[in-house]
Formats: sequence, structure tokens, C-alpha cells
Amino acid sequence: MSLLLILGLLFSILFSNIILLPLPFNQYAYMLAREQIKQHDRAVQGQNNLTSEEKIVNLYFQVLRANDFISTKNYFYPSRPIETELENITNSRFYRFLTLLPKGGNLHLHEFQVLDRKIFLESIKNSPEYDLLYICDQNSCLTKKYYLNYFKNNIPPGWTKVKNSNWTISEIVKKTTLIGMLNNLEKPLYATDTEARWNLASQYGTFSFYADLVKYNETRFNYMKLVLDHALKENVQFLEFRRGFFGNLYYFDKNGLQISINATDELNSLLKFKKKYLSKNPNFIDFIFIIYSIRKSSKDKIKNQINNLINLQKSYPDLIRGYDMVGEEDQGHTLLFHSENLINAFNYSQISNRSFNLLFHAGETNWPEKHIPSNHGDGVSTFENIYDALVLRTHRIGHGLSLAKRPDMYKYISERKIAIEVCPASNQILGYIADLRNHPGIVYHRSGIPIVLAGDDPGSFGYNQLTVDFYLATMAWSLNLADLKQFAWNSIEYSSLPSNRKNQGFQKWRNQWDLFINSSYKLACNQSFSNVIMNISDILPAYGPYDKSINVTLFGSGFEIAICKNITCKFNEKETKGMIVELNEIICPTPLNNNRLSTVSISLIIDKKIIQSGLKFKFISSLSVIDDGTLNTTTSSKSNKLIVINKETIIILSILIIIWTF
Ligand SMILES: [Zn+2]
Repeated sequence: MSLLLILGLLFSILFSNIILLPLPFNQYAYMLAREQIKQHDRAVQGQNNLTSEEKIVNLYFQVLRANDFISTKNYFYPSRPIETELENITNSRFYRFLTLLPKGGNLHLHEFQVLDRKIFLESIKNSPEYDLLYICDQNSCLTKKYYLNYFKNNIPPGWTKVKNSNWTISEIVKKTTLIGMLNNLEKPLYATDTEARWNLASQYGTFSFYADLVKYNETRFNYMKLVLDHALKENVQFLEFRRGFFGNLYYFDKNGLQISINATDELNSLLKFKKKYLSKNPNFIDFIFIIYSIRKSSKDKIKNQINNLINLQKSYPDLIRGYDMVGEEDQGHTLLFHSENLINAFNYSQISNRSFNLLFHAGETNWPEKHIPSNHGDGVSTFENIYDALVLRTHRIGHGLSLAKRPDMYKYISERKIAIEVCPASNQILGYIADLRNHPGIVYHRSGIPIVLAGDDPGSFGYNQLTVDFYLATMAWSLNLADLKQFAWNSIEYSSLPSNRKNQGFQKWRNQWDLFINSSYKLACNQSFSNVIMNISDILPAYGPYDKSINVTLFGSGFEIAICKNITCKFNEKETKGMIVELNEIICPTPLNNNRLSTVSISLIIDKKIIQSGLKFKFISSLSVIDDGTLNTTTSSKSNKLIVINKETIIILSILIIIWTF
């Protein structure tokens, strides 16, 4: 039996690539092994990339997160429908803190579905356009019920002038946002009834109520300015808009007739607008467009659209940066169905000098492969859109929910640096993931796939802040500052910005980030936490060598009172300098104990205040640590009186035992 054990041990040491850890023969070795596993995990997860100031801010960040968690644990917002929790979320203290965090860019955003409808309508109310605003609210409005539009004359039947009517902004918002509609249903829609939620959104007009308003030239640019202003308010500095084709704008002539504006004029106006906006708002990085087709469209239509797009893109390579297909994936054609035309778009992307990318919504489905083929007689299921997106070298993947079932593909995706645009709030309100604690975004992130958090259609849903998605993801997945910093960085790195502007983008984001860290650091250090009581519940290891300093960890709660403070660890009268590493962990190096074996009391001094732990530490003479050779000098040393057995020693010992046995 012992021979088998020894042979097994030998085999595993000689032939395995697994990092071997100290064997937990005693508490010291146990904690060394534990620390090694933990540090490996932290390094892989990019958790060690924070500066000393950021580490302090991170602790404060975790205090706020923990407070929200404690107060909402039994009524956890990320696991409840956003249509009932939005107000709770946006009123929370942690949410307000997250508003200030520089988030980089919002990379998955449908241009005219962004602005909060309340803000939109209020701006119209304060403009001359209010006189022209009508709502289709009468019985004859069969398919256009509650649509909004401007009319100067020839008002069609069924439309009511909003000004001087009984309509209030909040009543219109209730009728024209998905949250408003969901909350006004007599029978609530089930949280995972994706198709019913999409039907409510697309068939009844959530994505179209305001579509005619933004065709009017004046409103279009006011809208754009409001979107950018509100993005900057929550420290979002860059927007990558998905949108349909240009060429729908109009203005009113003297006689009140609508005169259309062609695509080129619209794009030229946008360039002018952008230049002016950037000069007034130097913190803003940029906005660019990804043009989409509706996936339900016929092959012929897509063919024409792609040809038109290629022609237009050549003239505006810095503004039009890519192509996508949109609409409910389970109800539209697959990418394979459109592949012949998509090959055309791909060929162009290859000769566009990186100015034009394909970026597909793909895998926005809960259905497994082969379960149901996509609509319209396509040969394959929605699930397989992921394959086609990868074949077409998609620059990023929009949603990618179906990848939850394909962990074997994560390596491929992360090695090719294809970011996934994760939209938690959108996925929840459209019925894909009812409980965001189970959203696969966290798995992608922890698997090394770059992810970005994005809003999708917040305006149509009933708000406009990307902070909502940041809050939901942070609370549901227990993210920290290092994670959110990574997302912000990803949003620039994996954006479709030209490389020179990407560099500028990094610089502008960095400036905001440094300002945020400076002010948050001061905020963290000015907290008194007067109501918090510190409690030390354990010390590990509770014994160690008397003639060598080792790190021991104090575990407990209420450690936030030590944030930014001097921490002194006391082993009876001997003092060392402690360090807070987590809200429940303080590290104390042990003092040398002058060749004395003894048991001492542990206490902490935090800014002159003594905290007795009631715990003891024992200095002993020697400890054995079986070192597999991968541990280095900081965790165990072959000098001193620690008995260190390394891999070679085990092998020699084992061989001797085998010879002796025979
Ligand atoms: Zn989308």
C-alpha cells in the first residue's frame, strides 16, 4: 500500500505539469498553499493590477457594495425584473458612486433607442417643435397607436396635438417605453417569456414610437446632443452607435412641406456637429456608427444595402466603421442565410485598411442548437449564428448568450481577442436571463474573454444610463474596481475607433480615471465609519517559527475602520506594521522572538485605538513544509530552522524506501 502511495507520489511529481502546493501537514504549510492558490487566481483575474491608491478606493468600493448587498439581500434587485426595480437601483448610494466611475465607451447601443424618453419629451416641450408635436391616440390609429410625429399642416385622422391636450409627459412615457408598457399590463408577462416581451417591444412600437421625430433635422441634432451630454454626465466618453441607413432626414420648408436631406448631406452635418461638440467637450472621445440591416429582410434587399453601404463608407471611413444585422435573432434569418451577401461585406472589410469591420449580434437566444430552426425556412438554428459570426471574423460579438453552452470555444475567442458586448439589463427585460446572478457574462469574463458592458436600447426600455448595467453586473457578480477598470479599458481597446484616435481615447479616459481615483481616495480616507465595530474572529496560522518572520492573517469583520489608517500589529509588546488586504483580512508579519518559544496575545492598534483580538499566537521551534520546488523564497526558505523538503529530497527518500522495502 505504502509502495503504491510512494510510486503515485513520484509519478505525479515527475510527470505532471500541475503546480504542486505545499502539503497541509500543518497550519503554516496550509496557509502557504492557500495563499499560493489565491494569488494565482488573483493574477489570472487581473486583480493585482491596482495602484496603492486604487487599492484603497477598491476597499471603499467594496464597503459600498457590501452595504447595498446587506440591505437588499432579501430583495435582490439583479434577480428581480428591472421594470419593477429601476427606481430602487438608481436611488442607491452605490449606484450614485458608480455614476462617477469613468466607464470608457458604450459599444452596443442602438442610436435612436438611447435617450430617456422623459428627457427627450421635456426637451421638445421647451423647443418650438412642441407646437408641431402630435400623438396618434384615437381609435383610427390601429397600427400606429401612441406613435409621435410632427405636423405643420395636413394632420392625418387619429392624431391629437400634444400641446394643450390632456397628455402629460409621464403619461406618454408610460405608453411608449417597454418598462411603462410592462407595468401597465393587466396580466404581467412571465420573466422568461422572450417572444412575448419582444412582441410587446417591436410589434407595439417600443422601438418605433419616436422614430419619426428623429427624422426631423432640428430634433435629430438636439437628440444627439442630449445623448452625448447624458453620457458624459455618467462618465461615458465614447459611443459606438448601431443604426440603420442614412438618408431619412428632412426639414420643413416655408410652406410647411417636408423636404428630405440626402445621406451625404446628413453625414456632412454630423461631421460638423461632431467637430463642434468635441471642441466644447474636450473630455469626449468620439462617436462612430455601425450600420445595420434588419435580419428578416430578403437577400435582394441586403445585397443592395451592403453595396450602398460600401460606396458610402469609402467617403466616410472615420465615421462609418462597420456592419451588423439586427432584430430578434430567433425570429429573423440566420447569418448563414445571408452569407452570400455577407461574404461581399467581408471582402470589403479586408481591403478597407481596417476602417470597416463586421460586428454581429450573435447568440442572443436561449434555445439550444437543433431545437428549433430559425424562422423563414432557414436550414439552421439561431444557435449557429455564432459559427457564422466567427467565420466572418466578427470584430466583437453582440450578446453571445448561446456561448454559455460552448465553453470549448472560449479559448478560440479569447485568443483572437474577440470581445463580447454584454448587456445585462437588456437581456433581462427581453426575457433571456431573469436572474442576473446566472448571466454568462461573468463566466466569459473569468474565462479570459474580453467583455464590455453595454446598454443596447435603454431609452426604449425606460431610462438611459449605462450605470444601470454597471450596477446590475457589479452586484450580481460581486465585481470590484479591478474588474470595472478592465471593462472600461476593454471598451477602448476593442472599439472600432481608428488607431490614432484609440490612443487619444486611452489618454482621455486615463485623465478621467485619475481624477476619479484622486477624489474617491480622499472620500475613502475621510470616512469615519463611526458605527462600525471591528471584530477579529480568527488568526491563521496560529503558530509559526520564533526566529523567522512570517505573515499571519487576521480574519474578521468591520475592518473598514482600518482603511487609510496606520495599522500596528502587536504580539504581546512586540510591534509590526500590518496591512489591510480585504474587508475581512489584515496581514500581520510576525516579529522575531529572540530564540524564545512562547504564546503571545494578538492585538491591533488602528490610529491609536487598541483592538484586542482575544486570540493567541504561538512561537515554536520548527515546522516542516514539503516544498515541491515551485515555491520561492518569500513563502518558505531553506535556511533557518524550518525543515524544508523539496522535490529532489522526496524522490531520493522514496527510492531509498523502495530499495529498503524489497
Ligand atoms: Zn442590440
